[in-house]
Amino acid sequence: MNPASTEGTPATGPAIEITGLNKWYDQLHVLKDIDLTIRHGETVVVCGPSGSGKSTLIRCINALEPHQSGTIAVRGQIARSNREIRQLRQDVGMVFQQFNLFPHLTVLENLTLAPRMVRKSPEPEARERARHYLEKVRLADYGGSFPAQLSGGQQQRVAIARALCMDPAIMLFDEPTSALDPETIGEVLDTMIALSESGMTMVCVTHEMAFARRVADRVVFMDQGRIAADCSPERFFDRPDNERIRRFLSQVI
Ligand code: ADP
Ligand code: MG
Repeated sequence: MNPASTEGTPATGPAIEITGLNKWYDQLHVLKDIDLTIRHGETVVVCGPSGSGKSTLIRCINALEPHQSGTIAVRGQIARSNREIRQLRQDVGMVFQQFNLFPHLTVLENLTLAPRMVRKSPEPEARERARHYLEKVRLADYGGSFPAQLSGGQQQRVAIARALCMDPAIMLFDEPTSALDPETIGEVLDTMIALSESGMTMVCVTHEMAFARRVADRVVFMDQGRIAADCSPERFFDRPDNERIRRFLSQVI
């Protein structure tokens, strides 16, 4: 796939640097003293029990959720103003469990909408990029289809292509395959594997442990709002160093 955009990337420094992050929903302390560094080109898998704070962490990274203390720097920038948050969201693509495609727009229109509206790309250029990424997710013939005419796996691949059309430097995934029929999970994972191998910086919340073993540079395990492990996949799967991880692995594998 197209290598990650490097436009404006500082030559040194991590893609994402999170320091001392704490977040509460009212009284509920959901993220506790999170320190996490993601380097350029890394694929990091985030896993852990339901309710451990994985989605909240991902959503904090692109400022979909505010946090109360700590800092999140993306490509060296801490986004504070609305303008900086808009820039952040252009740099960071996101793919959700629910694909969130516009049902009344064709696949091609779904892909060209944000580039035209947000980036002011001319229509022909936006279409060309859309066709390029549709080909990458192996849906070249589906530009004229409506989302409802596609399988779940195909819709999720459209959602990935849509995010890529904005030329993000970083891609965040929040359980992209957990709403899919088992037979279409593989095609979405194949798309993500190709993206990872192309050098994209990726943070993936997923319980697809075969994917983690294959492409993750690191596995981050969250438990009750804390990072309980941050290690290589080999270490995580073959020599887990605490009982909580062993219990988690016995449930997901
Ligand atoms: P995970 O993705 O690991 O399942 P979440 O980040 O979704 O975990 O949730 C972490 C905790 O925060 C859970 O206890 C959840 O119920 C709570 N939570 C998530 N979103 C909200 C919200 N918008 N308002 C209040 N509590 C929330
Ligand atoms: Mg979640």
